[in-house]
Amino acid sequence: MENTELNTNDNSLEGTGNFIHNYINEDLKGELNKVHTRFPPEPNGYLHIGHAKSICLNFGLAKLYGGKCNLRFDDTNPAKEDTEFVNSIKEDIKWLGFDWEDRLYFASSYFDKMYEYAVLLIKKGKAFVCDMTAEEMKSARGTLNTPGEESPYRNRSVEENLELFKRMRDGEFKDGEKTLRAKIDMASANINMRDPVIYRIAHMNHHATGDKWCIYPMYDFAHPVEDAIEEITHSICTMEFEDHRPLYDWVINEIDFSVKPRQIEFAKLNLSNTVMGKRFLRALVEEGKVDGWNDPRLITLSGIRRRGYTPESIRKFCEMIGVSKANSVVDTALLEHCIREDLKGETPVVMAVLDPIKLIITNYPEGEREMLEIENHPENEELGKRLVPFSRELYIERSDFMEEPPKKFFRLSVGKEVRLKGAYFVTCTDFVKDENGVITEVHCTYDPKTKSGLNFTERKVKGTIHWVSVPDAVKVTAMLYENLIIEDENSENGYSLNPSSLTVAGECMCEPSVKGAKPMDRFQFIRNGYFCVDSKNSTDENLVFNRIVSLKSSFKNVPKNS
Ligand code: ATP
Ligand code: MG
Repeated sequence: MENTELNTNDNSLEGTGNFIHNYINEDLKGELNKVHTRFPPEPNGYLHIGHAKSICLNFGLAKLYGGKCNLRFDDTNPAKEDTEFVNSIKEDIKWLGFDWEDRLYFASSYFDKMYEYAVLLIKKGKAFVCDMTAEEMKSARGTLNTPGEESPYRNRSVEENLELFKRMRDGEFKDGEKTLRAKIDMASANINMRDPVIYRIAHMNHHATGDKWCIYPMYDFAHPVEDAIEEITHSICTMEFEDHRPLYDWVINEIDFSVKPRQIEFAKLNLSNTVMGKRFLRALVEEGKVDGWNDPRLITLSGIRRRGYTPESIRKFCEMIGVSKANSVVDTALLEHCIREDLKGETPVVMAVLDPIKLIITNYPEGEREMLEIENHPENEELGKRLVPFSRELYIERSDFMEEPPKKFFRLSVGKEVRLKGAYFVTCTDFVKDENGVITEVHCTYDPKTKSGLNFTERKVKGTIHWVSVPDAVKVTAMLYENLIIEDENSENGYSLNPSSLTVAGECMCEPSVKGAKPMDRFQFIRNGYFCVDSKNSTDENLVFNRIVSLKSSFKNVPKNS
């Protein structure tokens, strides 16, 4: 049921198409009449935002050209793979909004065929069993300027090679004792073509095939074979494989597959102030430096999902960064811009005080309670209104009062008047300090004429602050995040962990409307940012919110068409 028709409705196909579209369009003018891509993760860790770029690209191309995209676990390396990773990868791709339908494959299920193809190469005189050790091979490989030396085992007969390869498979040799090498050209200018190893011996248990195999194919042999078996037309990978492309093509041509996949390389995504590699992420998780693979500070897909990012915002981000062959570093602020844009119109706005002090309205009757009607979103009327309790004692942000304010401070200090959001104007009269000199209370008077909705115009105030009624407040925990790493010249990698990557605001006071919030519910806490209920640690009694992103962007170069 191949759908070979092109999706001609999408004008980015011809118009603003990236360089990959150009290659594909070229191929489609020739014999090719379909587009079939794949996303080939190695199940040795959780997916990160760089993988999202590859997923959006591969599934996106299939969609654009009316083709298909497979999910293939590249599980040819038994050492580090795990079913936990397989499951998390599937979950992340679904969450991002992509569907491999019935095309879920495992490279390990092709081990039999791969073995046969290796035998075929031996029979063609294109592969040989080599007894050189890894060290010996390394020193015989040559350099960029000097050719390598041929292995003394290179001219073994086909019969001997077949026999030895079979004995390798049957477990007669120890790890590293023998390898199967492609017989190409030790003098090639491309070192990858100098008789590369295509099978190695590894007496290891594999998560899918168990103890069936003790020889495993190398990536450069396995990958083109996997692609060809699945009839992939365009094998999209990252730039580090550019120099391996001649070997990729060699394997495809020597085995003489009928469909000849075309490898196309693009530049990896790098994000500022972030390290993405699985090795780094795995070390953080294993050393307990973060709260698992889904720590909201990590740019793993499960981490940013838990933090509160939406799949739409990630897809938009991937669209905006585009693809090219040039390496670059994308400003993390662009990712934050995408989530703000996605959340800004639809997320209910509530009042929450992260670092509370008490504000006492001395002329407001004791014990009285008013319900004030406040809109749920300043620009989106569809979100309606809610009633927020107001009383004589309120919580306000500690930073909204200053004992000795600088000139342009328009919030509270003695003698100054501000608006309490959705309520009244209040004028500060006094404040109280404890024995350590820490301010504990701010005193004010209010003016009943200034009640919100009464269209009071006699005088204006410059500042509006948010508040929460003390007897009605819901105490919650707010997790505030910064970059996980910071530049560090003294460290060997050039960075170190940011000691303030997490601030726990344990006394955060929220208006009562947040009661009953469920994991993954999102709110804008007025002036404090977008927050999401934590899916791991939040309970009905003890709500925990992750700050997804603050409200203001530091990013200057947001494209106009965003
Ligand atoms: P890492 O070690 O960072 O996880 P990887 O390339 O080893 O990267 P794989 O599971 O082998 O991870 O990758 C699956 C696919 O995702 C590959 O096609 C790979 O090229 C692509 N990919 C990995 N990292 C990035 C990135 N930063 N940007 C774009 N694509 C990426
Ligand atoms: Mg890898």
